Amino acid sequence: MSITVRAAAKINLHLGVGRVRDDGFHPLDTVYQAIGIHDDIALSLADDLSLTTHVADHIDPAAVPSGADNIVLRAARLLAEHAGRPATGAFEVRKDIPVAGGMAGGSADAAAALVACDRLWDLQTFDDDLLALAARLGSDVPFSLVGGTARGRGRGEVVEALADPGSWWWVAVPSAEGLSTPAVYAHFDALRPDAPEVPPSSDELLAALATGEPLRLARALHNDLQEPAIDLRPDLGDLIARGESEGALRGLVSGSGPTVVFLCDSADGARETALGLAGAGHEVVLTATGPVAGAHVVVPV
Ligand code: ATP
Repeated sequence: MSITVRAAAKINLHLGVGRVRDDGFHPLDTVYQAIGIHDDIALSLADDLSLTTHVADHIDPAAVPSGADNIVLRAARLLAEHAGRPATGAFEVRKDIPVAGGMAGGSADAAAALVACDRLWDLQTFDDDLLALAARLGSDVPFSLVGGTARGRGRGEVVEALADPGSWWWVAVPSAEGLSTPAVYAHFDALRPDAPEVPPSSDELLAALATGEPLRLARALHNDLQEPAIDLRPDLGDLIARGESEGALRGLVSGSGPTVVFLCDSADGARETALGLAGAGHEVVLTATGPVAGAHVVVPV
């Protein structure tokens, strides 16, 4: 008996970052969107706990931990402990979401693993409990469960679903080299010692989102981590300029980077931008629409 759960990559349409707190976390006011780049997690009944990974051509297999460090196994153990049962099953992880790319690939896998274990073990965990366990695994994991378009506060783990009437076209360009999230936040602290305690609000972005107009949304996209990310990786600034000259409405570093995403006005606009960027030598150029669903079953038990 087995089950397959799909989970999506996220981008941040707005990422407002406040001054670092005493506990080391940064307060966030963010708007997430789940987009159509997915990982699939299959789980089969077994006597012990195991994991195999298969990655898309654009992903370095060595970048994905194969043992206990993989967040999928951590998620399985956490839910098993909550339910008072042993963590058992054979996981097969198929990754298409760039690793360490600022698209919450690990968080998506953790959310998918929680759903897969809950269903295959027939636990019927309450949604609120699943969300609380997700928050213990990482700040982006609750959003990966919820999906769609949502506002995130706290460390990003306090998620509120938003109505999003638009259907948005994105081009995503991952980087062969990862960029460490802690390094980008540390550089934010160095560049912005005067950062406000309350993170910049997402009100303007929310108003633009409600119009459903790509140009309005493009103007409102905002990421406080873009400046530190580009300071550490100036090539990302060149990439943004190139994508915008190829027809994208706006380019933006995704989360802490180094993936750069481009909002386009239509499917044709996304194709043109993607072709232009591929022609400029970017080997991996992905096209996706958003919003899409959070972690959900695609092959039932
Ligand atoms: P975020 O956007 O949430 O900051 P990210 O997209 O930058 O995350 P991830 O792809 O989630 O980064 O990977 C971060 C690190 O997590 C990787 O360097 C890897 O060592 C570790 N990791 C653990 N489990 C996984 C997994 N299933 N998939 C990818 N990375 C994993």
